[in-house]
Amino acid sequence: MRILVVEDELKISQYTAQVLSTLGYIPELANSGQRARDLFAINDYGLVILDLMLPDDDGLSLCKDFKTQKPTTPILMLTTLSEIHDKVQGLNSGADDYMTKPFHVEELTARVRVLLRRHQGTSHNLKCADLEMDLVKRQVLRAGQNIKLTTKEFSLLEYLLRNLGRPVTRVQIAQNVWDLHFDPESNVVDVYVKQLRKKIDSNADKKLIKTIVGMGYVINHE
Ligand code: CA
Repeated sequence: MRILVVEDELKISQYTAQVLSTLGYIPELANSGQRARDLFAINDYGLVILDLMLPDDDGLSLCKDFKTQKPTTPILMLTTLSEIHDKVQGLNSGADDYMTKPFHVEELTARVRVLLRRHQGTSHNLKCADLEMDLVKRQVLRAGQNIKLTTKEFSLLEYLLRNLGRPVTRVQIAQNVWDLHFDPESNVVDVYVKQLRKKIDSNADKKLIKTIVGMGYVINHE
């Protein structure tokens, strides 16, 4: 899952990104309001972490605009202690939760998990036939058997399952599972799909991940 981190303080954005990566999410950084707007318009994020004070924009108006464009995307607002009086304003602008800087890894982890759980409701479970993925526990089961995936394999499977029955191109996979600067000419997508297949399909009679020749991949149980 991709998470947009809008923060102009490099130390905080890098720290946040590092924590999110460790948790298995894909952080994308925007150091200005404009960059955040550009990224938000073209990508789908599971969550936005938004700094209140940006050099070129105001986090509150950004928050309002994001909520107008994509009301279901949760927003976690970052403030410093001195800005805490803006909390009420922030919640009025549609922010789902608040966190005061500086914060500890445990707090960030907890808030991100709670927000995602609340927003995904029961859909934190993805499923295809006897393949089940629990996004909160970060657990994958095939026919009840636990399957250990790497962070990237997990993200790849999540992306395929979110597009259940809908073929996705290598470029779409690359952009959603890796990052914007990924070279679509490289064969890394195919390499990872092969690894993923080995783990989830090789011992099963029914193969779920299918190749669409000349296009990409699809997961389904037809
Ligand atoms: Ca700031």
